[in-house]
Amino acid sequence: MTFQAPGEVRIEERPDPSLQAPDDAIVRVESTGICGSDLHIYHGRVQIEPGFVIGHEYVGTVANAGDAVSEVAVGDRVLGTYGTACGGCFFCRRGEYHKCDESRVFGHGATLGSLQGAQAELLLVPHANLVLRRVPEGISDDAALFAGDVAGTAYHAIVEAGLEPGGSVAVLGLGPVGLCAVQVARAAGAALIVAVDSVAERLRVAESLGATPVHLTDEDPRGAVKRLTGRGVDLAIDAVGHPEALDLACRLARKAGTVSVTGVYAERTEVHMGVVWIKALTLRTGHANVIGHLDRVLAMLASGVLDPTPLVTHHMPLDEAADAYAVYDRREALKIVLVP
Ligand SMILES: [Zn+2]
Ligand SMILES: [Zn+2]
Repeated sequence: MTFQAPGEVRIEERPDPSLQAPDDAIVRVESTGICGSDLHIYHGRVQIEPGFVIGHEYVGTVANAGDAVSEVAVGDRVLGTYGTACGGCFFCRRGEYHKCDESRVFGHGATLGSLQGAQAELLLVPHANLVLRRVPEGISDDAALFAGDVAGTAYHAIVEAGLEPGGSVAVLGLGPVGLCAVQVARAAGAALIVAVDSVAERLRVAESLGATPVHLTDEDPRGAVKRLTGRGVDLAIDAVGHPEALDLACRLARKAGTVSVTGVYAERTEVHMGVVWIKALTLRTGHANVIGHLDRVLAMLASGVLDPTPLVTHHMPLDEAADAYAVYDRREALKIVLVP
């Protein structure tokens, strides 16, 4: 699946990838997701070269591996993270793999490392010892697909932000990341999870996962949080990536609370610093350290503590990916899994 122009994606034939380095592996992709960040590319908000292959969520089988690949082997069923890390730079040595000096993201063009994407039959995976994991027994492809991006991002939003048992959380934006964050918050012992969105179906799913749903416009999220907590939530998550969501998160957090900014920002965005300062808020931002969290997230998926499979609303053949993008763009799907 290649990007052509804003609003236009197309299936094209490409030569098979070949190993470039001793720690490379090649994965035969069996399931691959469409992510909210792929829509940024689809709309041209994130610019990549025409003809570049998109996609960064994948489960498959190792088809080839270099001599230095020791953690997985040819024939293993594996999943991988959305991006790569070198394992040896200043940041990797601190475990901050998401800020690796040589980090590259699958399917995001030259600006993020020219790594062809996973919405394809074959995927070249650099630094396979860090990026790939065997899929534990009993995990379906649909669940495993979440480990390398969506579930790891939700884990980051909750756990890295320091949620403690008995705490309260507000999740703004109930796409797959927001809904996974609801599940992680429950698993982390949250006593109250307020889930905010404007799509009734998403609110219903959040409620089924144990959250208190609040409609963004038909109801009053600030009033609801005030009523439920008396002071605001310990942790408010902007899982949207829009200035209004960020502002609301700052309003919903209690004094000395935390705002976890999981939605993507690439441009100048205004934050009411007076609110942040007077309330003594902690802002946490950036990509998730998905490589750092991967083993814990897999353990949660394997045990069933985290089960994102209800979020998969569509399975479609990779050949129909252009239709799939159109469906996803109309917000008719939560998570679409493409099958090559
Ligand atoms: Zn993604
Ligand atoms: Zn590194």
